[in-house]
Amino acid sequence: MRFEDRYSRQVLFPGIGAEGQAMLAQARVAIVGCGATGTCVAGLLARAGVGWLTIIDRDYVEPSNLQRQSLFDEADAAESLPKAVAAARKIAAFNSDVQVKPEVADLTPENAEALLAEAGLILDATDNFETRYLMNDFAVKHGNPWIYAAAVAAYAVTMNIIPDETACLTCMFPAPPEGTVETCDTSGILNSAVSLIGSIQATEAIKFLVGAKDKLRRTLLSFDVWGNEQAEIAASRPRADCQTCGRREFVHLAGERRPQITLCGRNSVQIHERSRPVDFAEMSTRLGAHGTVKHNNFVLKFWRDPYEMTLFPDGRAIIKGTNDTAVARSLYARFIGS
Ligand SMILES: [Zn+2]
Repeated sequence: MRFEDRYSRQVLFPGIGAEGQAMLAQARVAIVGCGATGTCVAGLLARAGVGWLTIIDRDYVEPSNLQRQSLFDEADAAESLPKAVAAARKIAAFNSDVQVKPEVADLTPENAEALLAEAGLILDATDNFETRYLMNDFAVKHGNPWIYAAAVAAYAVTMNIIPDETACLTCMFPAPPEGTVETCDTSGILNSAVSLIGSIQATEAIKFLVGAKDKLRRTLLSFDVWGNEQAEIAASRPRADCQTCGRREFVHLAGERRPQITLCGRNSVQIHERSRPVDFAEMSTRLGAHGTVKHNNFVLKFWRDPYEMTLFPDGRAIIKGTNDTAVARSLYARFIGS
């Protein structure tokens, strides 16, 4: 397919033009998280012709994702494909020119450098503040722009962060929210709220990538699509006393190693203790005596009532059926190894 044909309608738009299109083809973007927001923004940017996408996600596709995660289908869920891998396959089917690098991983202080260093722009499509503050630390430290986006229930919010020019995440929210935080698993989510915020995030990303910096929005923008409300808060200047961009204390990037994390309200625990590869064929044989096992090249699933364990090739596991990290840890030690 000819480059000119594929992007002809976008090149006609004066804000992009042939020059902007060529800039998009050279651009490198990292998308952190590939759930609802991630699939929306990755789909839009890949169709728009952004040349290089790194898609980072730790999870696998499940049937309950299909209501809103627009790059996945029933076959992906049946196979429990890692989301990053499923997204890369889907993008290759509609735009094989885009170089997609799927990274089946949790973004952590240890791997942030390796996973994000090449990206000229970082897009937040995560579901948790821990990772957002980590991204903010990395981005401010290295002077990389990033775009915050979040959605839950009918509410969606986004902000562009250009280090040293605009406010950063810590300027706006000095501390992560305390107490119970609403998540998609507890409050539900409208797919339209995600599409809206993903579309705005993709538009701002394209403005940045084609050099239309004067068009970038400099506010924290939020919508309630059900209640018909919207709000904008000025975010055009950094706060002088900000811990991250003012005092340059990168506490999240310097964070302690996190060996295990409870996933958001889903009755599941992630264990990430081993970083040596697991041989799925050998592990299948071993686990077969203790429950039902199924594996492909990307994940191994092991069912033992009432638990369901999903194991990744690097030894990481997601254990469903408990919120108790001690239970998850002992299951892991018993069946996978300590
Ligand atoms: Zn700041």
